[in-house]
Amino acid sequence: MNNLTDIRFLKGVGEKRALLLAKLGIDTIDALLRFYPRGYEDWSNTKRIEECSFGEKVCIKARVITAVSEHSIRKNMTLYKFVVADDVYMRMNITLFNNKYLAARIHEGSEYLFYGKIGGGLYGAEMSSPEIREVGECGIHPIYNATAGFSSKNIEKLVRSAIHIDLGEDPIPQKIRERHSLCDMRTAIENIHFPRSKELLERAKRRLVFEELFLLQTTLLLLKNKKSRVLGSAFHKDCSDIFEGRLPFALTSAQKRVIKESINDMMSGSVMNRLVQGDVGSGKTAVAASLAFTAARNGYQSALMAPTEILAEQHFATISKFLKDSTVECVLLTGSMKKKEKQTAKEAIESGKVQIAVGTHALLTDDVVFSNLGLVITDEQHRFGVAQRAKLAAKGNNPHTLVMSATPIPRTLALILYGDLDISIIDEYPKGRQKIESFCVDSSYHERVYNYIKKHIDEGRQGYIVCPLVEENEDLEIKSAEEYYEELKEDTFKNYRVGLLHGKMNSKQKETVMREFETGKIQLLICTTVVEVGIDVPNAAIMVIENSERFGLSQLHQLRGRIGRGEHKSTCIFITDNKGDNTSQRMQIITKNSDGFKIADEDLRLRGPGDIIGNRQHGLPDFKIADLSDDLEIMRLAGSEAKTLLENDPKLENQEVQALKLYVKALYKKMNSN
Ligand code: ADP
Ligand code: MG
Repeated sequence: MNNLTDIRFLKGVGEKRALLLAKLGIDTIDALLRFYPRGYEDWSNTKRIEECSFGEKVCIKARVITAVSEHSIRKNMTLYKFVVADDVYMRMNITLFNNKYLAARIHEGSEYLFYGKIGGGLYGAEMSSPEIREVGECGIHPIYNATAGFSSKNIEKLVRSAIHIDLGEDPIPQKIRERHSLCDMRTAIENIHFPRSKELLERAKRRLVFEELFLLQTTLLLLKNKKSRVLGSAFHKDCSDIFEGRLPFALTSAQKRVIKESINDMMSGSVMNRLVQGDVGSGKTAVAASLAFTAARNGYQSALMAPTEILAEQHFATISKFLKDSTVECVLLTGSMKKKEKQTAKEAIESGKVQIAVGTHALLTDDVVFSNLGLVITDEQHRFGVAQRAKLAAKGNNPHTLVMSATPIPRTLALILYGDLDISIIDEYPKGRQKIESFCVDSSYHERVYNYIKKHIDEGRQGYIVCPLVEENEDLEIKSAEEYYEELKEDTFKNYRVGLLHGKMNSKQKETVMREFETGKIQLLICTTVVEVGIDVPNAAIMVIENSERFGLSQLHQLRGRIGRGEHKSTCIFITDNKGDNTSQRMQIITKNSDGFKIADEDLRLRGPGDIIGNRQHGLPDFKIADLSDDLEIMRLAGSEAKTLLENDPKLENQEVQALKLYVKALYKKMNSN
């Protein structure tokens, strides 16, 4: 019997219990031992009854001084009562409800530990339904997440009977443990369940957090290395300087760096898998265009896929302008184009007459055939599934891939979320970018805010009002976009052209509205967060965000990025009536900062990683013990150890990493089955 033995073979577990345990994700003895407690009860620190205050949860050591009496007070309700006294003869009444089993184990004259809330009344101190243990069991006790049919105590018992099993070799090599003063696996497992002291518990936690993050990062790095060993089309020349000469502006040094990093990848002979992270307005399109240009000059086609038709059209227009009068040709392909136009575009792609295809999902259909696809770029990639990216890539022979994301993610988190990609960051904005004025006010300012919007529209600008919800919600105070739109259109803004955009509209309706906004037909757009994704309407210079407390900081920043894109001075007004500390703090951060990465860091600090990773389909296993908001430092350490280790032993061949290799394989399997 060892740690990988099926849980059914553990004493006390049969088929039936094995099924219940499976619900907790426990299938092997190892899984049981890695089902860590969610908390602890301290039974080591016993108190005297007179030292306790009412309502306090305490552990008391006392002797039973009466027999247990049984009181049947009604059908299905029997009380068991007895009296205990501590070592200074202070008494306490104990009542157990319906617990015949426990009552039968209480013997007059014996001493026990009683853990529970102290109450009291006319007859002195009392405790109802305390947990009771033998005196020898003083110490820190684990509390597990229970499930139907399995109490925390049941689980504790199983863990106790499993803990002496052979755990196998430690997955963290000894040298690494020594470098970071981590305890060995046995000490960690024993103390995470049954801590011998608080210090040992802390050491156990640290070791297990390190282990979890180390295993994950090692696995991700291996995956990345495996991908990058795939051969790709080797470009032989870098034409980014020629391309830059065609631009109406000079590239920022961050843009140049990212272009160089990508071109180095593409000239290396291996296939590129790179993520470009750049805040809104950092100029990702120019980077994409430059790479596509170099690909074309090397004889390869590129595909640039955007999540909406409007974005695709905007990219197409921008890139066509950059390529004017060059030998490199660009074509657009979207679902709503006329059949004939689509046909012409497809023919041009298939014959190799055009080198750059910009489009939407339409690029994915089977009848789109490339003559020589060498580079696939996806914009705002979180909107595309991995499968879609792969489908586009399958149209070439291992083409290079670049994903562009406008969601700044703190670097540490990015390493986990995109651990299988190389990452480039555009951390600089084009010169002359207007700083957006940001304010936070409460709803008593609505009248003034509306007048301010009107003033902007009268000067020829456009604006957004963003609301958090679409339909009337149980939370009636929050204006739904639809209702709000009706109200503003009829009343305050009746002399203006107002539009509505929300997520429940179908994509055709959305496209129509966005187009009307883009062409200026709509002056004021009432919308929900659908407007978040990369739309570029330089004439939009004012944004008002209602119920700002409802949004995450990063999301507010993304929204705000829709304005300040042209030469006009732009203003963003955050409205909230929430006066809580957390909201005030968050509003401070968003109004004082314009750097998305900095805001993301603050968001991570304030809300933890859940909301940032959140709904993203990252395919990573849930953490058992690590908590990225607390454990970033350990994550950095574990990450750098994983990196060094793989640099010296890329295939995990050395003797001392064989245990690690087993764990990595198991994790890899689990990640792929998710
Ligand atoms: P995003 O990174 O949000 O996709 P875009 O690529 O849409 O940003 O660029 C935002 C605006 O900045 C565009 O109008 C673009 O032409 C302009 N731009 C990009 N790079 C530069 C630069 N180096 N100097 C000046 N303007 C630039
Ligand atoms: Mg963009």
